[in-house]
Amino acid sequence: MINTELLFSYLDEKYPDAHCELVYSKDYELLIAVMLSAQTTDKSVNQATAILFSKYKTVEELAKADLSDVEFIIRHLGMYQVKAKNVIKIAQILVTQYHGKVPHDSEALLAMPGVGNKTKNCVFGELFNDPVLAVDTHMQRVAKRLGIACEKDSVEKIEQKYMSIIPKERVVKTNHQIIWFGRYFCKALSPECANCKLKQFCKNH
Ligand code: SF4
Repeated sequence: MINTELLFSYLDEKYPDAHCELVYSKDYELLIAVMLSAQTTDKSVNQATAILFSKYKTVEELAKADLSDVEFIIRHLGMYQVKAKNVIKIAQILVTQYHGKVPHDSEALLAMPGVGNKTKNCVFGELFNDPVLAVDTHMQRVAKRLGIACEKDSVEKIEQKYMSIIPKERVVKTNHQIIWFGRYFCKALSPECANCKLKQFCKNH
């Protein structure tokens, strides 16, 4: 069983400033960037959104964007044709139903195209500091290696298990820290186990 005190102090020591690596300056830009990040890297999304958001400067402009142009701008992202439609549709929903603002309402967000629970939680944690977790591939791998979750656990189960050990006030911060830990240290291939202070709890050893 993982020692949670050690886990949190190690994460604080390694990643005191862990944060969302998607670049955005407005709430709708974050929502769209997170939707675009499915099955692709934050770096690729940032490259695409730098062009997209400088060409379409407001959510109203994005709502009227030309589909083939958006497809071209985001063409290096996986599933870009579906995502391009989602970008425009999300912008249209925000403009017509929510005065151009991202609603702090789970049902409303989940009704938008391309928005699932992970995207919703990521946006709510980031924009509203809600104590919710976005469980991505890194969160899943780390949970299984550290015995926080079992190999067969679903994403929902992993989320529940994390929530049972992370104090509410540090959920958002810990979410970013574990994502960074998985992305840069406890990598899928060649994790840096020789220097890992959590080795004693790790199933890889
Ligand atoms: S020992 Fe290796 S696999 Fe285990 S948590 Fe640390 S880095 Fe990850």
